[in-house]
Amino acid sequence: MYKKNAWKKYSDKKAVMNFAEGYKDFLSFSKTERLAVKKSIELLESKGYKNIDSFKSLKANDKVYVINKNKNVAAFIIGKKPITEGLRILGAHIDSPRMDLKEHPLYESKEFALLNTHYYGGIKKYQWVTIPLALHGVVCKKDGTTVEVNIGDDENDPVLGITDLLIHLSKNQMEKTADKVIEGEKLDLTLANIPLDGDSKQAVKDNALKIIKDKYGIEEEDFLSAEIEVVPAGKARDYGLDRSMVAGYGHDDRCCVYSSLIALIDTDKPEYTSCCILVDKEEIGSVGATGAQSLFFENTIAKLLTLTGEGHPLYNARIAFENSKMLSSDVSAAYDPLYPEVSDPDNCAFFSYGLVINKYTGSRGKTGSNDAMPEFYAFIRKTFDDANVNWQSSELGKVDQGGGGTIAYILGNYNMNVIDAGIPVLSMHAPMEVISKVDLYEAYLGYKAFLKA
Ligand code: MN
Ligand code: MN
Repeated sequence: MYKKNAWKKYSDKKAVMNFAEGYKDFLSFSKTERLAVKKSIELLESKGYKNIDSFKSLKANDKVYVINKNKNVAAFIIGKKPITEGLRILGAHIDSPRMDLKEHPLYESKEFALLNTHYYGGIKKYQWVTIPLALHGVVCKKDGTTVEVNIGDDENDPVLGITDLLIHLSKNQMEKTADKVIEGEKLDLTLANIPLDGDSKQAVKDNALKIIKDKYGIEEEDFLSAEIEVVPAGKARDYGLDRSMVAGYGHDDRCCVYSSLIALIDTDKPEYTSCCILVDKEEIGSVGATGAQSLFFENTIAKLLTLTGEGHPLYNARIAFENSKMLSSDVSAAYDPLYPEVSDPDNCAFFSYGLVINKYTGSRGKTGSNDAMPEFYAFIRKTFDDANVNWQSSELGKVDQGGGGTIAYILGNYNMNVIDAGIPVLSMHAPMEVISKVDLYEAYLGYKAFLKA
């Protein structure tokens, strides 16, 4: 159903509400890419998916996953048709905007120990001060072991945070433009305040290091080979008096990750091999080994072709891509009644109107976008309408208002038919983003219908 409020479809809202409960658990746990991978594998394995290493060959209906460097996953259920006839792919990203600790993060100033960060992805820096923050990540030691760090999300943990100037002394700060109110180098976390006994010039930092060593067995230099992300502390919550929405950190793009993953898990005996790929680094350009531009996906298809015995795996991986159809499962901007001026009311996404199709993204004359083929769009319209999925179409804001991108063009470069299909988000990239539960559910239904189409 095109452009209709999806809540009206459900006199009994139990299925929609229950689906959101599973999602809230997923979102609350998956604060980083590595944690999202861990949780996704848990879900996949609970439904019979196995690591590719445990297969000597693959046949129809086998369920298989491949993990790339703990930050990128591809999962498949093998179809009846050969893989070279194409796959049905759902692609979403598991990274979200945040701050990362620098290589030399720890310093002391006036008997405060602080942690220096560098932000990741597009953020409004002023939104990240004076809120409870948590640290999640890994420290890789020279002896080959990896230590998992996790502070601030257990109810018994302390939280960390970034200070802001009191209003009383903010005369100069209040005159600055929003991008300068909090500058990147001011995004440093307050870590500790108690000094270690003795007359060290950095006794508070020494004490902090002692606590870190006692708890994690790591030295200051070990931060060099670490990946520690600073994210909002706390769980995803119901939002709104009617509990129609979910508030949480990282809906972009974990709401599409979850709905895509469950759509795959709930797919049985597909004609075409169904795939859900979860990529890293979308927020910084999809680059690197675990991003959508990596050869990982192509290599993985070649591995599958070797196991299905389809021959010429590298060549056929390209043929498979060319014949594939993909939904780039990524979020879209929702119409915000407080800021109507940034949207074209006939071409924007509304809360609770269901899955959003973005034919193109980009900015200033569609630059950088994968402008989907109308032939493919027609196929998608029929797929959603036949399955009674509520869906809508949207552009990311008015012309020349700004813009954004997704991973769609990267798979498009393989000559694949790709279109963006996701969930509308309010306050996108803020520490607390909001989505509608019924949009989450319609996305799941739409993704599931697509895998069978
Ligand atoms: Mn996104
Ligand atoms: Mn984003």
